Amino acid sequence: MLKGKTAIVTGGTRGIGFSIVKRYLENGANVAIAGSRQESVEKAMENLGEYQGRVMGIWPNLGSPEEVAEAFASVKEKFGSLDILANNAGISSRTSLYDYTLEEFQKIVDINLTAVFICSQAAARIMKDQGGGVIINTSSMVGEYGQPSGCGYPATKFAVNGLTKSLARELAKDHIRVNAVAPGVTRTDMVAALPKEMVERISAGIPLGRMGEPLDIANAYLYLASDLASYVTGITLRVDGAAMT
Ligand code: NAD
Repeated sequence: MLKGKTAIVTGGTRGIGFSIVKRYLENGANVAIAGSRQESVEKAMENLGEYQGRVMGIWPNLGSPEEVAEAFASVKEKFGSLDILANNAGISSRTSLYDYTLEEFQKIVDINLTAVFICSQAAARIMKDQGGGVIINTSSMVGEYGQPSGCGYPATKFAVNGLTKSLARELAKDHIRVNAVAPGVTRTDMVAALPKEMVERISAGIPLGRMGEPLDIANAYLYLASDLASYVTGITLRVDGAAMT
C-alpha cells in the first residue's frame, strides 16, 4: 500500500509508534524513526534487521525548528522524497490541577503540541516542493471527552484536533492531506504495567470488550497514509472500540 513512499514516524521507538513503523515497512515504505535519543533509536532498529536499507534513525530535538528541518532534509536526501509524516511522539500526565507546575504544563504542550507544529511545518515545506504528501497527527479519545486529572494532556489533544482541521484546509491546495488518529486505551508498555484488575475494569467499560492493540492503531495510520484515503482530509479518526470516557 505504500510502496516507494518515505515516512517519518516521531516517537517510533516503542509502543504505537513502533507498530506504525513496522506496518509502514511491511507495506513497502522507507521509514525514518525519529526518537528522543540515539540509543533508543538504534535499539529499535536492531529489531528491524530484515528491513535493512529501508529504515534509518534520526533524533532531532523536536522543539528545535532548525534541528527538525535538518533531520527531515537528511531523510529526503537518503530516500529521495518525504511523503508521510506520522506525528506520534507524546507524553501524558495525571497530575491534579492543584499540584500542576507551570514547567510540567509547558513540557506537555512542548511535546504534544508545539513539536507537532514544528514537524508539520518542516515536512510541509518539503512536501509542497515535491507536489504533495500526508501528515497524520496523534490525538486521543480524551481530546473529545477531557479527563478528570492531568488537564494538560487532553488540552494538547483538543489543540491537535484544531491544528489538524486548520492545516487540512490550508494545505489542501498543495496536495497535502492532514488527518489525526484518536486512540482509545491502547496496550502499550505503560498500560501493560497496570494491575490485572484495573486492566479488566477498563476493558469492561469498552463496548468492544477489550483494549486497543498497537496494531489496531497502526492500521488506521496505514489507511490514512495510503491512497485509499485520497479524499480524506481534516478528520480525527477515533479508534477506541466506541469507548465513552
Ligand atoms: P509510549 O510512551 O509507549 O511512546 C511514546 C513515544 O514518544 C516513545 O517512543 C517516546 O520516546 C516518544 N517521545 C516522547 N517524548 C519525546 C520527545 N521529546 N522526542 C522524541 N520522542 C519522544 O506511548 P504510546 O502509548 O505509544 O503513545 C503514542 C502516542 O499515542 C502519544 O501521542 C499518546 O498521547 C497517544 N495515545 C496513546 C494512548 C494509549 O492508551 N497508549 C491513547 C491515546 C493516545
